[in-house]
Amino acid sequence: MLKKKVIISACLLGEYCRYDGKTKKVNEIIEAYKDYEIIPFCPEAPIFGTPRERISVIEVDGENRIFTDETKIDVTKLLEQEINLFIKSNKKVDEIVLKSKSPSCGLGTTPILNFQRELLYHGDGIAAKIFKKRYKSIKIKDDIFVEKLEKVMI
Ligand code: SF4
Repeated sequence: MLKKKVIISACLLGEYCRYDGKTKKVNEIIEAYKDYEIIPFCPEAPIFGTPRERISVIEVDGENRIFTDETKIDVTKLLEQEINLFIKSNKKVDEIVLKSKSPSCGLGTTPILNFQRELLYHGDGIAAKIFKKRYKSIKIKDDIFVEKLEKVMI
């Protein structure tokens, strides 16, 4: 029987792909999807390497762009290309689980800043934004669902 497919942010699976070279492994997520075919996803590491300069979402003229924090380079196009390439080879999936608060993966939890780096609001990272458009019929969640699971179990 064909397994269901789930895309999961690679750092949640234990990959050391975060900007600081660390991971954010969540065993409960790995356990929850043990019967699925897991497709790891990390758009930043293949482009910038690990560790790498931190990036942030900056609102420019009403549009969300991604800039490197120190060198102030607009890397939005690079990330869009990487994410679209990933989607092209993973068209049919059943579920998606993304890492919260990330400029790429965050789902409504990513700090959206202005050029002075002041917080404007919390929104989607660039991958979450594109995934919502491209995987319209799929429910996307983030690692915060584990906290909710734990609360239900208590
Ligand atoms: S949050 Fe997304 S982009 Fe950042 S390290 Fe994890 S998988 Fe990669």
